[in-house]
Amino acid sequence: MTCKHLLLFALVLILFTGCSGASLVTAYSHTPDLEQASTDVVSEAEPAQALTVPAGPVKNAYLTIDDGPNSHFTGIYLDILKKYNAKATFVVVGSNIERNPEVFRRILDEGHSIANHTFSHDYKKIYASPEAFLEDLDRGNKSISAITGSEVKMFRAPGGASRLTSSFNGVLDSHGYKHLGWNVSSADSDPNGISSQQIIDNIKNGVIAVEKMEKSPIILIHDGTEINLGTDKPGTAVHNYIRSRESGVAALPEVIEFLLDRGYTLAGADENTPAAW
Ligand SMILES: [Zn+2]
Repeated sequence: MTCKHLLLFALVLILFTGCSGASLVTAYSHTPDLEQASTDVVSEAEPAQALTVPAGPVKNAYLTIDDGPNSHFTGIYLDILKKYNAKATFVVVGSNIERNPEVFRRILDEGHSIANHTFSHDYKKIYASPEAFLEDLDRGNKSISAITGSEVKMFRAPGGASRLTSSFNGVLDSHGYKHLGWNVSSADSDPNGISSQQIIDNIKNGVIAVEKMEKSPIILIHDGTEINLGTDKPGTAVHNYIRSRESGVAALPEVIEFLLDRGYTLAGADENTPAAW
């Protein structure tokens, strides 16, 4: 009995030592792989694309950036988007394309989408009649096609679709134009000015609200027309306008990170983008 117990004890001891030894070897031999894996994670974390692959079907969010190309702010927006490998839609004004063709080329070169926002963005002129609107929109398309070689049928009415009455829509539909609306507003065109935190909060709250309606977020922000840097007195409309563009630039990284964290891919809009409403 004693002998058997001793033998059994010796066997158990050998087995345990062997397992421990094996475990140690296994753990040690895995260490370089774990280091490699963690290195891979670090290197993949650099481009944000790695974070945009959702587990389920692709969920797109659309950043739409109105009123440029702008000689100062558009480039800053493009730098931020590039850092995250995010795509957006630049809703461009023809007269600003003619002022800043190199900025427009950069938008295209970096793979973003384009929508036509008329040539003049002059409410008095474009809303005088459906024909006046169409003429200005066609002129905007000429500015676009002079650089891209083709027109775009996706457009956004300055001030939004609510300004288009049925007679306007009838004319625009018959010419194949398709309106790009929005369902999340940053409110960055508030004439009283807006802080970056307000922009972030407006977008976060708006995205959560449209998710409840099972809509893809189409977010409205502005890179602005050619009012860039200035020394206007605080409280003036120009001062507020400039500060609001600066707020937009400051808000954008957190907005993008918020969308990526929620599993969205930041995509450029096209004619197949689901309607905002
Ligand atoms: Zn506009």
